[in-house]
Amino acid sequence: MENMDKPLTQNIQPDRVFATLADYERTGGYQGLRKAIAELPPKEVQQWVKDAGLRGRGGSGFPAGVKWSLVPLDDAHQTRYLIVNGDEMEPGTFKDRFLLEKDPHQLIEGTIIAAYAIQAQTAYIFLRGEYHLAAYRLKQALQEAHANGYLGEHILNSDFSLDIHLHTSAGRYICGEETALINSLEGKRANPRTKPPFAVVSGLWGKPTVVNNVETLCNVPHILRNGVNWYKGLGLGADQGTKLFGVSGRVRRPGSWELPMGTPIREIVEEHAGGMRDGFSLRAFLPGGASTDFLLPEHLDVRMDYDAVAKVGSRMGTGMLTILDDKTCPVKMVLNLEQFFAQESCGWCTPCRDGLPWTVTLLQDIVEGRGRMEDLDTLSRLTGMMALGNTFCALAPGAMEPLQSALKFFRGDFEHYIAGVVPPSSLKRLV
Ligand code: SF4
Repeated sequence: MENMDKPLTQNIQPDRVFATLADYERTGGYQGLRKAIAELPPKEVQQWVKDAGLRGRGGSGFPAGVKWSLVPLDDAHQTRYLIVNGDEMEPGTFKDRFLLEKDPHQLIEGTIIAAYAIQAQTAYIFLRGEYHLAAYRLKQALQEAHANGYLGEHILNSDFSLDIHLHTSAGRYICGEETALINSLEGKRANPRTKPPFAVVSGLWGKPTVVNNVETLCNVPHILRNGVNWYKGLGLGADQGTKLFGVSGRVRRPGSWELPMGTPIREIVEEHAGGMRDGFSLRAFLPGGASTDFLLPEHLDVRMDYDAVAKVGSRMGTGMLTILDDKTCPVKMVLNLEQFFAQESCGWCTPCRDGLPWTVTLLQDIVEGRGRMEDLDTLSRLTGMMALGNTFCALAPGAMEPLQSALKFFRGDFEHYIAGVVPPSSLKRLV
Protein backbone atom coordinates (compact mmCIF):
# COMPACT_ATOMS: atom_id res chain seq x y z
CA MET A 1 0.00 0.00 0.00
CA GLU A 2 1.53 3.29 -1.10
CA ASN A 3 2.13 5.99 1.46
CA MET A 4 -0.16 8.57 -0.10
CA ASP A 5 1.41 11.62 1.53
CA LYS A 6 5.11 11.11 0.85
CA PRO A 7 5.54 8.96 -2.24
CA LEU A 8 9.12 10.12 -2.98
CA THR A 9 10.48 9.16 0.43
CA GLN A 10 8.17 6.30 1.43
CA ASN A 11 11.05 3.82 1.21
CA ILE A 12 13.49 6.02 3.09
CA GLN A 13 13.19 4.79 6.65
CA PRO A 14 15.40 5.63 9.64
CA ASP A 15 16.05 1.91 10.30
CA ARG A 16 17.11 1.22 6.70
CA VAL A 17 20.43 2.19 5.10
CA PHE A 18 18.84 2.36 1.65
CA ALA A 19 15.93 0.76 -0.20
CA THR A 20 16.83 -2.52 -1.90
CA LEU A 21 14.95 -3.85 -4.91
CA ALA A 22 12.80 -5.99 -2.55
CA ASP A 23 11.97 -2.91 -0.42
CA TYR A 24 11.11 -0.95 -3.53
CA GLU A 25 8.89 -3.67 -5.00
CA ARG A 26 7.11 -4.17 -1.66
CA THR A 27 5.67 -0.64 -1.84
CA GLY A 28 4.58 -0.94 -5.48
CA GLY A 29 7.92 -0.42 -7.17
CA TYR A 30 8.01 -1.00 -10.95
CA GLN A 31 4.19 -1.19 -11.08
CA GLY A 32 4.13 2.18 -12.85
CA LEU A 33 6.49 0.81 -15.48
CA ARG A 34 4.38 -2.34 -15.88
CA LYS A 35 1.28 -0.22 -16.39
CA ALA A 36 2.94 2.10 -18.91
CA ILE A 37 4.36 -0.71 -21.01
CA ALA A 38 1.30 -2.97 -20.90
CA GLU A 39 -1.49 -0.42 -21.21
CA LEU A 40 -0.34 2.98 -22.47
CA PRO A 41 1.22 4.03 -25.79
CA PRO A 42 4.13 6.50 -25.37
CA LYS A 43 2.01 9.55 -26.27
CA GLU A 44 -0.48 8.60 -23.58
CA VAL A 45 2.27 8.37 -20.96
CA GLN A 46 3.31 11.87 -22.00
CA GLN A 47 -0.30 13.03 -21.64
CA TRP A 48 -0.56 11.58 -18.12
CA VAL A 49 2.53 13.45 -17.01
CA LYS A 50 1.28 16.62 -18.71
CA ASP A 51 -2.16 16.32 -17.10
CA ALA A 52 -0.57 15.64 -13.71
CA GLY A 53 1.18 19.01 -13.97
CA LEU A 54 4.65 17.74 -13.05
CA ARG A 55 7.09 20.64 -13.34
CA GLY A 56 10.88 20.27 -13.54
CA ARG A 57 12.38 20.07 -10.05
CA GLY A 58 15.88 21.17 -11.07
CA GLY A 59 14.92 24.82 -10.70
CA SER A 60 13.38 25.81 -14.03
CA GLY A 61 9.87 24.49 -13.34
CA PHE A 62 9.33 23.63 -17.03
CA PRO A 63 6.47 21.10 -17.39
CA ALA A 64 8.05 17.66 -17.88
CA GLY A 65 5.26 16.20 -20.06
CA VAL A 66 5.39 19.21 -22.37
CA LYS A 67 9.15 18.77 -22.79
CA TRP A 68 8.66 15.11 -23.68
CA SER A 69 5.94 15.98 -26.20
CA LEU A 70 8.37 18.19 -28.16
CA VAL A 71 10.47 15.16 -29.13
CA PRO A 72 9.60 14.03 -32.69
CA LEU A 73 8.28 10.45 -32.56
CA ASP A 74 7.23 10.03 -36.22
CA ASP A 75 10.34 8.12 -37.37
CA ALA A 76 10.51 4.75 -35.59
CA HIS A 77 14.17 4.33 -36.59
CA GLN A 78 15.31 7.67 -35.20
CA THR A 79 17.81 7.49 -32.33
CA ARG A 80 16.69 9.41 -29.24
CA TYR A 81 18.32 9.89 -25.86
CA LEU A 82 17.22 10.53 -22.33
CA ILE A 83 19.69 12.10 -19.89
CA VAL A 84 19.21 12.25 -16.15
CA ASN A 85 20.76 15.43 -14.76
CA GLY A 86 22.34 14.35 -11.48
CA ASP A 87 25.09 16.98 -11.51
CA GLU A 88 23.78 18.65 -8.36
CA MET A 89 26.20 21.45 -7.45
CA GLU A 90 24.05 24.41 -6.34
CA PRO A 91 25.44 25.55 -2.98
CA GLY A 92 22.96 24.62 -0.24
CA THR A 93 21.19 22.00 -2.37
CA PHE A 94 21.43 18.29 -1.53
CA LYS A 95 18.00 16.89 -2.36
CA ASP A 96 18.95 14.73 -5.38
CA ARG A 97 21.80 13.18 -3.43
CA PHE A 98 19.27 12.02 -0.83
CA LEU A 99 17.05 10.37 -3.46
CA LEU A 100 20.00 8.82 -5.32
CA GLU A 101 21.63 7.31 -2.27
CA LYS A 102 18.51 6.18 -0.45
CA ASP A 103 16.21 4.86 -3.17
CA PRO A 104 18.08 4.33 -6.46
CA HIS A 105 15.38 2.09 -8.01
CA GLN A 106 12.86 4.96 -7.86
CA LEU A 107 15.07 7.01 -10.19
CA ILE A 108 15.71 4.00 -12.42
CA GLU A 109 11.98 3.29 -12.80
CA GLY A 110 11.27 6.96 -13.57
CA THR A 111 14.07 6.95 -16.13
CA ILE A 112 12.76 3.84 -17.89
CA ILE A 113 9.20 5.24 -18.05
CA ALA A 114 10.47 8.59 -19.41
CA ALA A 115 12.64 6.80 -21.99
CA TYR A 116 9.59 4.75 -23.04
CA ALA A 117 7.51 7.94 -23.35
CA ILE A 118 10.00 9.47 -25.79
CA GLN A 119 11.03 6.11 -27.29
CA ALA A 120 14.69 6.51 -26.37
CA GLN A 121 16.83 3.40 -26.67
CA THR A 122 19.68 4.70 -24.53
CA ALA A 123 19.69 6.75 -21.33
CA TYR A 124 22.57 8.29 -19.39
CA ILE A 125 22.65 9.21 -15.74
CA PHE A 126 25.03 12.19 -15.58
CA LEU A 127 26.15 12.16 -11.97
CA ARG A 128 28.16 14.65 -9.96
CA GLY A 129 31.67 13.18 -9.64
CA GLU A 130 31.79 13.59 -5.87
CA TYR A 131 28.66 11.50 -5.34
CA HIS A 132 30.63 8.27 -4.84
CA LEU A 133 28.04 6.52 -2.65
CA ALA A 134 25.24 7.36 -5.08
CA ALA A 135 27.35 5.98 -7.95
CA TYR A 136 28.02 2.76 -6.06
CA ARG A 137 24.36 2.17 -5.20
CA LEU A 138 23.14 3.14 -8.66
CA LYS A 139 25.52 0.65 -10.26
CA GLN A 140 24.20 -2.14 -8.05
CA ALA A 141 20.59 -1.12 -8.67
CA LEU A 142 21.12 -1.01 -12.45
CA GLN A 143 22.47 -4.57 -12.34
CA GLU A 144 19.47 -5.71 -10.27
CA ALA A 145 17.06 -4.01 -12.69
CA HIS A 146 18.74 -5.81 -15.60
CA ALA A 147 18.65 -9.16 -13.84
CA ASN A 148 14.93 -8.78 -13.14
CA GLY A 149 13.81 -7.84 -16.64
CA TYR A 150 13.21 -4.13 -16.00
CA LEU A 151 16.15 -3.07 -18.18
CA GLY A 152 17.86 -4.32 -21.32
CA GLU A 153 16.30 -6.16 -24.26
CA HIS A 154 12.49 -6.55 -24.39
CA ILE A 155 11.69 -5.01 -21.04
CA LEU A 156 8.95 -7.02 -19.29
CA ASN A 157 8.58 -9.06 -22.52
CA SER A 158 7.59 -6.01 -24.56
CA ASP A 159 9.04 -4.55 -27.78
CA PHE A 160 10.74 -1.82 -25.76
CA SER A 161 14.48 -2.10 -25.00
CA LEU A 162 16.65 0.31 -23.07
CA ASP A 163 20.17 0.57 -21.69
CA ILE A 164 21.06 3.01 -18.94
CA HIS A 165 24.70 4.10 -18.60
CA LEU A 166 26.10 5.78 -15.54
CA HIS A 167 28.45 8.70 -16.30
CA THR A 168 30.25 10.34 -13.40
CA SER A 169 31.12 13.93 -14.29
CA ALA A 170 34.42 15.73 -13.87
CA GLY A 171 32.65 18.28 -11.67
CA ARG A 172 31.65 21.63 -13.15
CA TYR A 173 28.65 23.66 -12.00
CA ILE A 174 27.91 24.62 -15.62
CA CYS A 175 27.16 20.95 -16.40
CA GLY A 176 23.80 21.54 -14.73
CA GLU A 177 22.89 23.57 -17.84
CA GLU A 178 21.41 21.04 -20.23
CA THR A 179 23.40 21.87 -23.38
CA ALA A 180 26.69 22.23 -21.47
CA LEU A 181 25.94 18.84 -19.95
CA ILE A 182 25.38 17.41 -23.44
CA ASN A 183 28.69 18.87 -24.66
CA SER A 184 30.43 17.37 -21.64
CA LEU A 185 28.88 13.95 -22.30
CA GLU A 186 30.17 14.17 -25.88
CA GLY A 187 33.67 14.71 -24.47
CA LYS A 188 33.80 18.41 -25.36
CA ARG A 189 34.40 21.46 -23.22
CA ALA A 190 31.29 22.10 -21.12
CA ASN A 191 30.02 25.30 -22.74
CA PRO A 192 26.32 25.88 -23.29
CA ARG A 193 25.13 25.61 -26.91
CA THR A 194 23.25 28.18 -28.97
CA LYS A 195 19.50 27.61 -28.92
CA PRO A 196 17.66 26.88 -31.18
CA PRO A 197 17.97 24.10 -32.07
CA PHE A 198 16.72 22.89 -28.72
CA ALA A 199 18.00 19.61 -27.30
CA VAL A 200 14.61 17.93 -27.75
CA VAL A 201 15.18 18.22 -31.51
CA SER A 202 19.00 18.16 -31.75
CA GLY A 203 20.80 17.21 -28.57
CA LEU A 204 23.33 14.49 -27.82
CA TRP A 205 25.28 13.73 -31.03
CA GLY A 206 22.65 15.74 -32.91
CA LYS A 207 19.78 13.44 -31.92
CA PRO A 208 16.56 14.37 -30.08
CA THR A 209 17.40 14.39 -26.37
CA VAL A 210 15.47 15.06 -23.18
CA VAL A 211 17.36 16.13 -20.06
CA ASN A 212 15.41 15.74 -16.80
CA ASN A 213 16.44 16.36 -13.20
CA VAL A 214 16.69 13.43 -10.74
CA GLU A 215 13.80 14.55 -8.52
CA THR A 216 11.58 15.20 -11.54
CA LEU A 217 11.99 11.62 -12.74
CA CYS A 218 11.45 10.21 -9.23
CA ASN A 219 7.89 11.60 -9.39
CA VAL A 220 7.01 9.77 -12.60
CA PRO A 221 6.47 6.17 -11.32
CA HIS A 222 3.97 7.44 -8.73
CA ILE A 223 1.92 9.33 -11.32
CA LEU A 224 1.65 6.19 -13.45
CA ARG A 225 0.92 3.95 -10.47
CA ASN A 226 -1.65 6.12 -8.69
CA GLY A 227 -3.11 8.30 -11.42
CA VAL A 228 -3.29 11.94 -12.39
CA ASN A 229 -6.04 12.97 -9.96
CA TRP A 230 -4.21 11.44 -7.00
CA TYR A 231 -1.05 13.35 -7.93
CA LYS A 232 -2.89 16.63 -8.39
CA GLY A 233 -4.49 16.17 -4.99
CA LEU A 234 -1.10 16.16 -3.26
CA GLY A 235 -0.36 19.87 -3.84
CA LEU A 236 -1.70 22.55 -1.48
CA GLY A 237 -1.50 25.52 -3.83
CA ALA A 238 -1.26 26.14 -7.56
CA ASP A 239 1.37 23.45 -8.23
CA GLN A 240 0.97 19.69 -8.09
CA GLY A 241 2.60 16.83 -6.20
CA THR A 242 5.13 16.84 -3.40
CA LYS A 243 8.69 18.14 -3.32
CA LEU A 244 11.81 17.82 -1.26
CA PHE A 245 12.24 21.11 0.58
CA GLY A 246 15.23 21.77 2.78
CA VAL A 247 16.84 24.30 5.09
CA SER A 248 20.48 25.04 5.82
CA GLY A 249 21.90 27.67 8.17
CA ARG A 250 21.49 28.36 11.89
CA VAL A 251 18.23 26.53 12.46
CA ARG A 252 17.70 23.84 15.09
CA ARG A 253 17.28 20.96 12.62
CA PRO A 254 18.84 21.64 9.22
CA GLY A 255 17.77 19.00 6.71
CA SER A 256 15.39 18.06 3.97
CA TRP A 257 11.73 16.90 4.04
CA GLU A 258 9.17 15.78 1.50
CA LEU A 259 6.21 18.13 1.71
CA PRO A 260 3.29 19.12 -0.51
CA MET A 261 3.98 21.72 -3.18
CA GLY A 262 2.59 24.97 -1.85
CA THR A 263 3.69 24.41 1.76
CA PRO A 264 4.13 27.83 3.42
CA ILE A 265 7.77 28.80 3.98
CA ARG A 266 7.02 29.49 7.65
CA GLU A 267 6.00 25.86 8.18
CA ILE A 268 9.24 24.62 6.58
CA VAL A 269 11.46 26.90 8.68
CA GLU A 270 9.61 26.87 11.99
CA GLU A 271 8.08 23.38 12.17
CA HIS A 272 10.32 21.12 10.11
CA ALA A 273 13.65 22.88 10.67
CA GLY A 274 12.65 23.69 14.26
CA GLY A 275 13.06 27.47 13.96
CA MET A 276 16.20 29.50 14.63
CA ARG A 277 18.85 28.30 17.08
CA ASP A 278 18.96 30.06 20.44
CA GLY A 279 20.63 33.43 20.19
CA PHE A 280 20.01 33.84 16.45
CA SER A 281 17.14 35.43 14.61
CA LEU A 282 16.08 35.22 11.00
CA ARG A 283 17.22 38.16 8.93
CA ALA A 284 16.54 36.86 5.41
CA PHE A 285 16.70 33.70 3.32
CA LEU A 286 17.46 32.48 -0.18
CA PRO A 287 14.37 30.39 -0.99
CA GLY A 288 15.77 28.08 -3.64
CA GLY A 289 19.53 27.75 -3.59
CA ALA A 290 22.40 30.19 -4.08
CA SER A 291 21.16 31.68 -7.34
CA THR A 292 17.91 33.14 -6.01
CA ASP A 293 17.02 36.56 -4.58
CA PHE A 294 16.89 37.06 -0.82
CA LEU A 295 13.46 37.20 0.78
CA LEU A 296 12.69 38.70 4.21
CA PRO A 297 10.81 37.49 7.32
CA GLU A 298 7.72 39.29 5.97
CA HIS A 299 7.70 36.69 3.17
CA LEU A 300 7.50 33.68 5.50
CA ASP A 301 3.83 33.11 4.76
CA VAL A 302 4.43 32.80 1.01
CA ARG A 303 3.72 29.32 -0.33
CA MET A 304 6.51 27.30 -1.93
CA ASP A 305 4.97 27.40 -5.42
CA TYR A 306 6.82 28.54 -8.52
CA ASP A 307 4.51 31.48 -9.20
CA ALA A 308 3.92 32.47 -5.56
CA VAL A 309 7.66 32.88 -4.88
CA ALA A 310 8.16 34.68 -8.21
CA LYS A 311 5.39 37.12 -7.29
CA VAL A 312 7.37 38.38 -4.29
CA GLY A 313 10.54 38.83 -6.31
CA SER A 314 12.49 35.60 -6.07
CA ARG A 315 12.42 32.04 -7.42
CA MET A 316 11.56 28.71 -5.85
CA GLY A 317 14.60 27.25 -7.64
CA THR A 318 15.55 23.95 -6.05
CA GLY A 319 13.32 24.58 -3.00
CA MET A 320 16.31 24.40 -0.66
CA LEU A 321 16.33 27.42 1.65
CA THR A 322 19.52 29.03 2.90
CA ILE A 323 19.05 31.08 6.05
CA LEU A 324 20.80 34.41 6.73
CA ASP A 325 20.81 35.04 10.49
CA ASP A 326 21.33 38.32 12.28
CA LYS A 327 24.93 37.46 13.18
CA THR A 328 26.09 36.62 9.68
CA CYS A 329 27.27 39.41 7.41
CA PRO A 330 25.23 39.56 4.19
CA VAL A 331 28.06 41.31 2.33
CA LYS A 332 30.51 38.51 3.14
CA MET A 333 27.87 35.91 2.34
CA VAL A 334 27.32 37.44 -1.08
CA LEU A 335 31.08 37.73 -1.64
CA ASN A 336 31.40 34.03 -0.88
CA LEU A 337 28.64 33.17 -3.38
CA GLU A 338 30.11 35.41 -6.11
CA GLN A 339 33.53 33.79 -5.64
CA PHE A 340 31.88 30.44 -6.27
CA PHE A 341 30.07 31.64 -9.39
CA ALA A 342 33.17 33.42 -10.76
CA GLN A 343 35.15 30.22 -10.37
CA GLU A 344 32.42 28.18 -12.09
CA SER A 345 31.91 30.53 -15.07
CA CYS A 346 32.66 28.61 -18.26
CA GLY A 347 34.24 31.76 -19.75
CA TRP A 348 32.26 31.57 -22.99
CA CYS A 349 30.72 35.05 -22.93
CA THR A 350 32.30 38.37 -21.93
CA PRO A 351 29.74 39.73 -19.43
CA CYS A 352 30.06 36.64 -17.25
CA ARG A 353 33.75 35.86 -17.82
CA ASP A 354 34.82 39.43 -16.96
CA GLY A 355 31.83 40.64 -14.95
CA LEU A 356 31.90 38.01 -12.22
CA PRO A 357 35.59 38.46 -11.29
CA TRP A 358 35.01 42.25 -11.32
CA THR A 359 32.06 41.77 -8.97
CA VAL A 360 34.28 39.71 -6.64
CA THR A 361 37.03 42.38 -6.69
CA LEU A 362 34.57 45.14 -5.79
CA LEU A 363 33.02 43.12 -2.96
CA GLN A 364 36.45 42.18 -1.67
CA ASP A 365 37.49 45.85 -1.70
CA ILE A 366 34.37 46.72 0.29
CA VAL A 367 34.83 44.11 3.04
CA GLU A 368 38.58 44.84 3.26
CA GLY A 369 38.04 48.58 3.78
CA ARG A 370 38.96 49.88 0.31
CA GLY A 371 35.39 50.39 -0.89
CA ARG A 372 33.95 53.65 -2.24
CA MET A 373 30.32 54.72 -2.43
CA GLU A 374 30.42 54.64 -6.25
CA ASP A 375 31.30 50.92 -6.07
CA LEU A 376 27.69 50.29 -5.06
CA ASP A 377 26.50 51.92 -8.30
CA THR A 378 29.01 49.85 -10.26
CA LEU A 379 27.76 46.68 -8.58
CA SER A 380 24.22 47.69 -9.44
CA ARG A 381 25.19 48.29 -13.06
CA LEU A 382 26.90 44.89 -13.16
CA THR A 383 23.68 43.18 -12.09
CA GLY A 384 22.01 44.84 -15.09
CA MET A 385 24.82 43.88 -17.48
CA MET A 386 24.53 40.26 -16.43
CA ALA A 387 20.73 40.16 -16.39
CA LEU A 388 18.83 37.47 -18.34
CA GLY A 389 19.20 38.02 -22.07
CA ASN A 390 22.62 39.68 -21.79
CA THR A 391 24.58 36.47 -21.30
CA PHE A 392 24.71 33.17 -23.10
CA CYS A 393 23.17 31.12 -20.28
CA ALA A 394 21.52 31.61 -16.90
CA LEU A 395 24.64 31.15 -14.73
CA ALA A 396 25.57 34.83 -14.56
CA PRO A 397 21.98 36.13 -14.17
CA GLY A 398 21.53 33.56 -11.37
CA ALA A 399 24.76 34.73 -9.75
CA MET A 400 23.41 38.30 -9.74
CA GLU A 401 20.20 37.42 -7.92
CA PRO A 402 21.58 37.27 -4.35
CA LEU A 403 23.69 40.38 -5.04
CA GLN A 404 20.90 42.53 -6.47
CA SER A 405 18.60 41.72 -3.56
CA ALA A 406 21.42 42.26 -1.02
CA LEU A 407 22.03 45.72 -2.48
CA LYS A 408 18.33 46.43 -2.01
CA PHE A 409 17.78 44.95 1.46
CA PHE A 410 21.18 45.33 3.15
CA ARG A 411 22.52 48.57 1.69
CA GLY A 412 23.30 49.79 5.20
CA ASP A 413 25.75 46.91 5.73
CA PHE A 414 27.63 47.82 2.53
CA GLU A 415 27.69 51.47 3.58
CA HIS A 416 29.00 50.60 7.05
CA TYR A 417 32.05 48.93 5.49
CA ILE A 418 32.61 51.85 3.11
CA ALA A 419 32.41 54.30 6.02
CA GLY A 420 35.05 52.24 7.82
CA VAL A 421 32.64 50.87 10.43
CA VAL A 422 32.33 47.11 10.78
CA PRO A 423 28.58 46.32 10.48
CA PRO A 424 26.99 44.79 13.60
CA SER A 425 26.31 41.49 11.79
CA SER A 426 30.05 41.11 11.15
CA LEU A 427 31.20 41.63 14.75
CA LYS A 428 32.70 38.53 16.33
CA ARG A 429 30.25 36.73 18.58
CA LEU A 430 31.04 36.25 22.26
CA VAL A 431 30.64 32.57 22.95
S1 SF4 B 1 26.87 33.12 -18.69
FE1 SF4 B 1 28.84 32.39 -17.89
S2 SF4 B 1 28.57 30.19 -17.71
FE2 SF4 B 1 26.97 30.94 -19.11
S3 SF4 B 1 27.87 30.80 -21.16
FE3 SF4 B 1 28.34 32.84 -20.41
S4 SF4 B 1 30.41 32.59 -19.53
FE4 SF4 B 1 29.54 30.56 -19.70
